[in-house]
Amino acid sequence: MTTALRETSVRDVSVFGDAIAYFNEAADLLELDAGMRRILTHPSRQIIFSIPFQRDSGEFEVYTGYRVQYNFARGPAKGGIRFHPRVTLDEVTALAFWMTWKCAVVDLPFGGGKGGVTCDPRTLSANELERITRRYAAELVEVVGPDKDVPAPDVNTTPQVMAWFMDTYSMHVRQNIPGVVTGKPLEIGGSRGRVEATGRGVTICALDEMAEMELRPDNAAIVIQGFGNVGMHAAKLFEERGCKIVGISDVTGAYYNAEGIYVNGAMEHAAKFGTLEGFKGGEKITNGELLASDCDVLVPAALEKVFTAETAAKVKAKLIVEGANGPTTPEADRIFRERGIVVIPDIMANAGGVTVSYFEWAQDRMGFFWKEAEVNERLEDFLLSNLHQIRSIANSRKATLRAAAYTLAIDRVVKASKLRGIYA
Ligand code: GLU
Repeated sequence: MTTALRETSVRDVSVFGDAIAYFNEAADLLELDAGMRRILTHPSRQIIFSIPFQRDSGEFEVYTGYRVQYNFARGPAKGGIRFHPRVTLDEVTALAFWMTWKCAVVDLPFGGGKGGVTCDPRTLSANELERITRRYAAELVEVVGPDKDVPAPDVNTTPQVMAWFMDTYSMHVRQNIPGVVTGKPLEIGGSRGRVEATGRGVTICALDEMAEMELRPDNAAIVIQGFGNVGMHAAKLFEERGCKIVGISDVTGAYYNAEGIYVNGAMEHAAKFGTLEGFKGGEKITNGELLASDCDVLVPAALEKVFTAETAAKVKAKLIVEGANGPTTPEADRIFRERGIVVIPDIMANAGGVTVSYFEWAQDRMGFFWKEAEVNERLEDFLLSNLHQIRSIANSRKATLRAAAYTLAIDRVVKASKLRGIYA
């Protein structure tokens, strides 16, 4: 199915192209009509703007900000804001597209959105970051809000960044609106359990699939690529369940220890030095070696396109759990399928974050906050009930878990779109 792709203005750029390839595979399984395919392969709204700001040195700079609101059929747009030098309109569109399916696959009353600023936060002071965030938020005042579009953290954006966003928006609309963003600090309307939620979701999905594969946690060796909010908390929770973390990595390289890495030690090192550079708890290897290392479960928890045809052929793990968004190219996905490597796709495996974001949004609207045990219990319920549905779709259609997840998600979005019809 290439019609929609040809009509799409971002066709030449490949992250969104990969995302569309996955969509088409599931759309074929669903025998989705051409009109619906055309609608669902186009973003509702793409916003690009300049963010001028003053450096602490007095110098002026201009960065580019984006917000893509991909789909609203099931509710307000929902998705994080990414601060990274590689942010482009193509990437943000792909991520907003994935948020649409992610929210639908776990049955949240949200559409999909994503935002970003092309910048390198490592070169910015806290004050510069605050000015950029506030200008970013001010540019979006008319189009975000608890019933319009609800941003959240993503790569390099923290609860503090969400606090600045919420404050800027609230100042503009002259009332306190905590539900305009999720992932906020607890003191200003955040939810208990939100910080760990994506990592927790990764482990919940992984352990459920491991049981299915008869792989005992205390016999499992896990490798985690990326030691940010997702990878770090996943590592900790895997360790708590008796698994051995044999490899971790960040931008400075990878660290392998067949005897097991002590996760608290790595977390303390990262908190103290900002990165894993100089970490002595494992032998330093390259990122490529890490992906090809001996392990049972491999968790990509960094950026897109980690698994290409080349890297996928060398993977030794039996199970891949996609903590990151879009880590696997369609070519790599085919190789995993041929090699019998099971993949829990991003839209399911990392949906824990947005699920607890949904809980945060609901708590903000009620003004009544839940205990952490309540959050975690509901999270597990949302994830496992939908993972089990995906598994049964995969079994009955002889499809991968990824195709099954897209099938479930697309079906839900299509039903909502058809019920609402097209406003003209
Ligand atoms: N950035 C996260 C994701 O990719 C969380 C989004 C949210 O909580 O809205 O799923």
